[in-house]
Amino acid sequence: MKGVATGDMGRLHDGAEGPNFQMGMELHGKYTFFAEGCRGHLGKQLQERFKLNAGADPQTYGIGIKELWEIKPENHQLGLVVHSGGWPMEPDTYGGGFLYHLENNQVAVGYVVGLGYTNPHLSPFDEFQRYKTHPEIRKFLDGGKRIAYGARALTAGGIQSLPKLIFPGGVLVGDNAGFLNAARIKGMHCAIKSGMLAAEACFAALKGAREHDELIAYPEAFRSSWLYDELYRARNFKPWMNKGMKLGSLMFGIDQIVLRGKAPWTLHHKAPDHAKLKPASECPPISYPKPDGVLTFDRLSSVFLSSTNHEEDQPCHLQLKDANIPITVNLEQYDAPEQRYCPAGVYEILRDEQGNNPRLQINAQNCVHCKTCDIKDPTQNINWVVPQGGEGPTYPNM
Ligand SMILES: Cc1cc2nc3c(=O)[nH]c(=O)nc-3n(C[C@H](O)[C@H](O)[C@H](O)COP(=O)(O)OP(=O)(O)OC[C@H]3O[C@@H](n4cnc5c(N)ncnc54)[C@H](O)[C@@H]3O)c2cc1C
Ligand code: SF4
Repeated sequence: MKGVATGDMGRLHDGAEGPNFQMGMELHGKYTFFAEGCRGHLGKQLQERFKLNAGADPQTYGIGIKELWEIKPENHQLGLVVHSGGWPMEPDTYGGGFLYHLENNQVAVGYVVGLGYTNPHLSPFDEFQRYKTHPEIRKFLDGGKRIAYGARALTAGGIQSLPKLIFPGGVLVGDNAGFLNAARIKGMHCAIKSGMLAAEACFAALKGAREHDELIAYPEAFRSSWLYDELYRARNFKPWMNKGMKLGSLMFGIDQIVLRGKAPWTLHHKAPDHAKLKPASECPPISYPKPDGVLTFDRLSSVFLSSTNHEEDQPCHLQLKDANIPITVNLEQYDAPEQRYCPAGVYEILRDEQGNNPRLQINAQNCVHCKTCDIKDPTQNINWVVPQGGEGPTYPNM
């Protein structure tokens, strides 16, 4: 690894150079740190190229959908944290909500759906909208106003799914590697700590006049850090939860309270999330209530609040490896699940006036960069690549 190249600016829809074209530039370094967050576009390629996942479990993910609300002062309790598991999801599907009372009468409310779900009719966005109608959540939001919206995937595989962290001349840190404590939905401290450990290893290497080799001191320092200990103790959370909410809660409770995270077993993730969808014909359809525009909302008004922005005349950053698969596989077998798992309404199946000739339309300008399509597409046909620099959602207060 000798560095990274920034993307070209000013390419037109067909890839040709436009009037404002500016070629990207190469940035070379003795060591390059990759910190793209969950399902990094470069991190994914690095893991394939250097076989960093060899020996690790498949990574597993969740999609977190979040809104920021300004609520009535009488409903606000600064510092109050509400966590919940289950409802409105069926007990066999992992999901959980959170509501944090922040400063200035604001609350962050959100819901995480495990992307290992099997029913292609499921819509994480609509599950989140339903979550807000629970009396214990609604009571805080009633009379309030939604002011921001966002969505992002998170890594949930834990220590079993961590790839090799180093390769010649580079490292993976933070969610790009998969450092997140899924039991707590907390990953910032893990990202910071992994970055610090990698930086210390890099500093020592530079002092020794080394470059472009493997920073083996980084994974060694991780092994003896509190971060390893924390992730080790939490390692059975997601595998237990995959066995259903009730059994999972019971067994993880025993794992944590009785065995204090030191159970003599480690449960494994057997298959990646995209391989878990069942054919639509084998799954019950799910009927979601219509949004009321007050407590519950549709995708398009939500995307508006994410302030996402993409220049329309540029190559589509949601690339299909095979343009036929959305119809011949996704629609025919799974009822086009991308229409539902995308929290921004990017994917639409359009038909002619007679209702025939279905085709997939990709509204790439709405993308909020959550990466769910890159993760959950059943045949891994969708490849998310970075759009023009600086574009995407703007989350000033999320
Ligand atoms: C809904 C939700 C709620 C959460 N709540 C909490 C919480 O309460 N507490 C907590 O500790 N953690 C929480 N997390 C997890 C936390 O957000 C992550 O663990 C943490 O942000 C990971 O940090 P990171 O620096 O690795 O990645 P990120 O914070 O994702 O940062 C990666 C950055 O790299 C940029 N980027 C990506 N690709 C490229 C590229 N190719 N070129 C240039 N830039 C690129 C991205 O735009 C982004 O700015 C939550 C996550 C979700 C989804
Ligand atoms: S297109 Fe993909 S990355 Fe963009 S918002 Fe939809 S699911 Fe997320």
